[in-house]
Amino acid sequence: SDSGESDSSGYECLYRVILLGDHGVGKSSLASIFAGIQEKDGHNCIGEDMYERTLTVDGEETTLIVMDTWEAEKQEEDEKWVQDYCMQVGNAYIIVYSITDRSSFESASELRIQLRRIRQAENIPIILVGNKSDLVRCREVAVEEGRACAVVFDCKFIETSASLNHNVTELFEGIVRQIRLRKDSKET
Ligand code: GDP
Ligand code: MG
Repeated sequence: SDSGESDSSGYECLYRVILLGDHGVGKSSLASIFAGIQEKDGHNCIGEDMYERTLTVDGEETTLIVMDTWEAEKQEEDEKWVQDYCMQVGNAYIIVYSITDRSSFESASELRIQLRRIRQAENIPIILVGNKSDLVRCREVAVEEGRACAVVFDCKFIETSASLNHNVTELFEGIVRQIRLRKDSKET
């Protein structure tokens, strides 16, 4: 990258993971579950909307800083700045939509396209997340549509329920594995 900033992936096993997606899809709910995973090192809140945790995945430790900053600002100009910043600094991204809200699914596609444009040359780990899988009767986006979208956008896909804490651990472990895959292929 030509940003002139030092890349956090240069530090030992510390990665910024950014939650993207429309308002109300469940980003903050997923982040707060993350903040509660593996309760061994006390309080993990390192800022208003940032959570740091060390996860042991496949016997190896990796520290993630999950940033729920996408919607942090109330002022419109500040929000634009913060969102540009989010697009630049992530080492990995979780793009969330709600399976009960088709327009949030469309927004997820737009975010993927935006991310690809901004971080063109990089092969950034991205997981597309269909949240609220517990709301079966309100479903507007089929599992197959989510899966097909992820194939087109060359990213991973998972459906979660933050309310039931279903697949949320799998989501963050998946991010760790995706980060490691890319790191390993760079080193060899
Ligand atoms: P954000 O705006 O993307 O941060 O979304 P929030 O995490 O604030 O969630 C928005 C609303 O959806 C809240 O009322 C949550 O309780 C609810 N919610 C979040 N995740 C789920 C889920 O998996 N299932 C259900 N039924 N509700 C959820
Ligand atoms: Mg939120």
